[in-house]
Parts: sequence; C-alpha cells; structure tokens
Amino acid sequence: MVRFAPMPRPIHATIHTDALRHNLARVRAAAPDANVWAVVKANAYGHGIERVYDGLRGADGFALLDLGEAERLRASSWRGPILLLEGVFEMRDLERCSRLGLWHVVHCAEQIDMLAAHKTESPHRVFLKMNSGMNRLGFAPERFRAAWARLNTLPQVDEISLMTHFSDADGGAGIEGQLGVFERTAADLPGERSLANSAAILRHPQVAADWVRPGIVLYGSSPDFPEHSSAHWALQPAMTLASKIVAVQAMAALTTVGYGSTFTADSPLRIGSVAVGYADGYPRHCGTGTPVLVNGVRTRTLGRVSMDLIAVDLTPVPDAGIGSPVTLWGRAENGAVLPIDEVAQAGGTVGYELMCALAPRVAVTTD
Ligand SMILES: *Cc1c(COP(=O)(O)O)cnc(C)c1O
Repeated sequence: MVRFAPMPRPIHATIHTDALRHNLARVRAAAPDANVWAVVKANAYGHGIERVYDGLRGADGFALLDLGEAERLRASSWRGPILLLEGVFEMRDLERCSRLGLWHVVHCAEQIDMLAAHKTESPHRVFLKMNSGMNRLGFAPERFRAAWARLNTLPQVDEISLMTHFSDADGGAGIEGQLGVFERTAADLPGERSLANSAAILRHPQVAADWVRPGIVLYGSSPDFPEHSSAHWALQPAMTLASKIVAVQAMAALTTVGYGSTFTADSPLRIGSVAVGYADGYPRHCGTGTPVLVNGVRTRTLGRVSMDLIAVDLTPVPDAGIGSPVTLWGRAENGAVLPIDEVAQAGGTVGYELMCALAPRVAVTTD
C-alpha cells in the first residue's frame, strides 16, 4: 500500500519575538519610571505563553488570570513576580499561590475571608483592587479603606499594593473621573500603585505610577484604533497569520462567489481561493472588502468567509496564482504590514478578539 505523507494545509501563524521585544521597549519608553507587568492572560492573547516568553522576559513581571498559565510560566523558568489579575476563586488556589510564589489581586471580601483562613509560612503580596467606576471587580470606594485595614492585620499578608482599572482610557469618558475617585480614596494609604493598561500608558502617561499593565500593545495592536493606528504608536505586529492561494477562478460578469452569493462581479474578474476560514479563527463577520495582502500587495476579500476558504480579488496582483502567499494580518515577506486592527474593524470587532480566537488547528511557530 502506498503511504502519502500528510499534506498540511498552508495556513500558518508566526509569532515574532523581535516585535514583542520592540513593543515592550515602546512601553518602557512611554513609562520610563514604572515597573512593567507583561499581561499574558488568555494564553498571551492567543500567541502562546511559551512562545512569547523569550520576547517578553525583559518585563518586571507577568500578569494573568489562570493558575495553569502561571504554572507554565514557572515551568518556562520565570522566577520573578507573577500577578493573578482576578485573584483566587477558591481556597485551594491559595495553596498553589503559596507554592508558586504568586502575587494576587484581592477584589472582594470573600477573598479576604479565604486569606484569613489560609495556612502559609510565607505571607502573600496582594494588590487590593478598587472599583473606581468600571463596576466589574473591586471594592467600592467607601469599602476600600476598611478592606485595606483588615488585610493589614492578617499575618497571611505581606505587602499591600493598590490598583484600579479604567473603562475608558482609550477615549470616551476618559480617565479623569475614575482617577479622581482612586486618588481621593487611596490618598494617604501606603503601598505601590498600579493603574494603567495599554491605552492609559500611551494616552495618559502621567498615570503610569509604580506598575503598568500593558497587554494589547505588547502584541502590536493599537489600543485606541481607529483614532490612532499601530503605526502611529510605532508598534509592530507580534503575530502574522498567513496562508496561500489554493485555487484560481475566472468569474464572468454577473456571476457570484461563495455561500449566499453575496458578491456579484460586475465585469470579468480573476479571483483566488485562500486556505483560511472561520474554523481557523478568521472572523466570519468580515464581509466583502476586508483588506488582505497577496504577494505583499493589498487587495480585498470577496463574499462570505466559509469554514475553510475565503475568496480574494486578484486584480491588483495579476502575477498571483496557486501557491502565492496571502497575509491575513501581520507582516508579509516584502515587509508590508496589514494591521490586525483593520481586519477586526471590517468584522465589527477589535484586534484583541481576533488574536485570542486563533484556532487550535493552525500551526504556529516563532521567529
Ligand atoms: C487585560 C488587563 C489589562 C491589559 O489590558 P490591555 O488593554 O490589553 O492593555 C490590564 N489590567 C487588567 C486588570 C486586565 O484585566
């Protein structure tokens, strides 16, 4: 019997270590006096904790949500600080915190109760979170000082730092209201402060304080797109999603492409079918006109995204054919960049969601 080597589909993601280093340096330049938590929750925003580790190990610490991810960081030989951004969910998490030497957020009274009942030889460093207006996690301002006082009496607690999170650092209502609440409430409490996410670091560098918490900028997406692009902030894409043309079709005038026949050619049109679809994490909401690079040249998608394929207009790239490289987002071989933010916008979402949704069936390498 003849055996064939499996032919992998040509879709592939690349994580760029140099871009991660560059983006971290951009954060350092914007917040020169702050310590930097590299936020690597959600498997490093879809990039993979182990894959970003080399590029981000220059940070002062890593922040994430999941104890399993903290374990993977320790297994990657990270000995420095790790912060659990939502703290613990149950008592036994505290044992793993002690064992792994994790710092953790305390955002509700139940977490203080758990700490008070926790048996540990080495007291924990905690970040006490204030709800200054986001209304997701944190102590209301009028309960914050009592929470601090209670934590301060616990032998299980070492140092208490203070933190809050902005809902509108990227525009909208801005940060002034929340900043005022935080500063008035925390005024004379001792402890290091952590306030700024990516948007606050770039747009409001005066609030950097002791620890900044960049996530999205490290991965090269703009936190306030479309007001400012990643190029404006001098960020580089940390992820490239690339594939190839696997078929070429000559559409006659008034014929359609794809499910639902949503795109009709008004004159003869040469199009390529690309091996990527929503099962790879390419958003189905991206309709006709979503930007895409073929041979590093910008063109557009046509019709609906299906599970395994999309169609692209080959008019600007007459030399393209089967096997031509296609960049869905990130960098092309000729150096052209297609920002993930532009693709996300075409699908009515944000770069965060696209990178986090990279599907497990896509092979990933680092460079
Ligand atoms: C995710 C997260 C961040 C990072 O946000 P970006 O917008 O990606 O910079 C910072 N702080 C907290 C509490 C978070 O949950």
